[in-house]
Amino acid sequence: MDELASAEAMSAVLLSIEDERSWNAAVELDRSLEIEKAARALGDDSLVARAQLVQANMRLRSGDVAGAASQIWQVHQWAVSNDDRRLMARTHLVWSYIHGHLSDAEQALEHAVLAVELLGDDSTTHMHIWHRTKLADALWAAGSMDAARVRYRQAEQLAVETGSPALLCLLNNYAFTEFDTGNQKRAEQVADRLLRLADERGEKLEPAYLDTIGWIQIGNGRFPEAEATMRQCIERHEEGRYDAADALAMYLLTLARAQRGLGALDRAQSTLDTSRAMCLERDLGDLLVRVHQEQAELHAARGEFAEAFEAHKVFFTAYQNRHSVQREARTRTRQAMFETAEARQEAERFREQARRDPLTGLHNRRFVDENLPALVRDDPSLVVALVDLDHFKQVNDRLSHNVGDQVLVRVADLLTRGLSATCPAGFVARMGGEEFLIVLPGTSAQRATALLDTIRRSVRAHDWASLTHGLPVTVSIGVALSAELTAPTQPALLSTADSRLYAAKHAGRDQVVSVTDRRERASAA
Ligand code: GH3
Ligand code: MG
Ligand code: MG
Repeated sequence: MDELASAEAMSAVLLSIEDERSWNAAVELDRSLEIEKAARALGDDSLVARAQLVQANMRLRSGDVAGAASQIWQVHQWAVSNDDRRLMARTHLVWSYIHGHLSDAEQALEHAVLAVELLGDDSTTHMHIWHRTKLADALWAAGSMDAARVRYRQAEQLAVETGSPALLCLLNNYAFTEFDTGNQKRAEQVADRLLRLADERGEKLEPAYLDTIGWIQIGNGRFPEAEATMRQCIERHEEGRYDAADALAMYLLTLARAQRGLGALDRAQSTLDTSRAMCLERDLGDLLVRVHQEQAELHAARGEFAEAFEAHKVFFTAYQNRHSVQREARTRTRQAMFETAEARQEAERFREQARRDPLTGLHNRRFVDENLPALVRDDPSLVVALVDLDHFKQVNDRLSHNVGDQVLVRVADLLTRGLSATCPAGFVARMGGEEFLIVLPGTSAQRATALLDTIRRSVRAHDWASLTHGLPVTVSIGVALSAELTAPTQPALLSTADSRLYAAKHAGRDQVVSVTDRRERASAA
């Protein structure tokens, strides 16, 4: 297979999975893991993120909601920081599902709304149809069937116009939600459209859709049709194109319900027994609860009230047990979401720390390199100043390295305070050793010199006695202005500031040298 041969080939495979509904989750999960590996080797982050999104979706399909929840964070983050709206639209759909699973209909709806709002020209037709369908599902789950109906119709119209294969699935959901809301007649109308469209397109309906239709017929008291539909449904299922083998037990339960409605109670009992056996064999807890419920109804239909009561008790216990199993699953998902949120904050703290100097807590050179170029580019009246401690070696030599460190911390503090009092938009960084950088955005030469001289004097005037025992601490400062350079760049500014710092040292230290300074002109002459 050459689906990993190029970025284009991988993208095409991912798109076919993203826009396809009937996949085999286990196979597609493996495929998307392979694609992620190959995309990493290519250094294509966008493909990596898309491959991870497919993985999250496949985890959802196989019931691993916690796994999906912990994976979708990074995909979402990538999409947001790269402004990839199409991918964001897809990740919001996954969020919506996860919140739905957590029984948080409101959050699920919020994400489904975003999944539609983020659709743009680059979204596929399938996304336009499917995201509206999922928004409609979320509206129904939040109790707004009227609003849901509007979205189902929009999606239906679009799917009809474009001949989309998603049409049948969306009509299935539409019919089911109408039925669930108690709108039997409406449900039947949609179900009829579903049957007619499949017929027109020469397509056989999937067993899952026939199951929906069967339930609607049962709801409308059309039991003979419901039995026929369910027999057809089970036949289709046994043709074997469908991966969810567990579904058969569910279809048998629907069939049993139809047969009870018909009054064919022996047939119903035998169908129900088959379903129950499958549930037990495959450990289908949720479905087994419904089997117990149907058993109670079936006993009641026969007038066996003692048995009906016993079956009901079994049902009720099983129902409560399932509730706690579901609660545990939700807890796992919440836990996974919480842990990834924590990890993200941790990573952000780490990123921030990597840009701070550990001794003084000031920004470091890395921060300067990342932020100064943009300031130089955008601010025509930017001022930078290099600040260096005078004879600092002596502090280390005569006192100790430890005292030297404490002096550095105090100087850093004096610089920061001096700046926040006079130019809060500016910042101080430690460039290394005993050298600091002060950045003053939007400042005139005159004001900068005055401000920096105040800072210089504050260092000199600080009460150092307790720390240095009489050894003075002073700084020399070299200033450079964007305005004085024809083509200001970070290196040009820093090098100008550095040569003026040298001039300040040369002229006797404890002073500020900037462009207007006579001494510099004198030394340049
Ligand atoms: P000048 O006035 O010419 O700047 O003299 P100076 O002694 O300050 O200059 P020099 O660059 O020769 O010495 C700087 C000293 O700063 C050398 C180094 O040991 C010390 N130093 C650099 N980083 C640190 C630090 O993190 N802690 C301490 N305690 N000392 C440091
Ligand atoms: Mg130095
Ligand atoms: Mg020095």
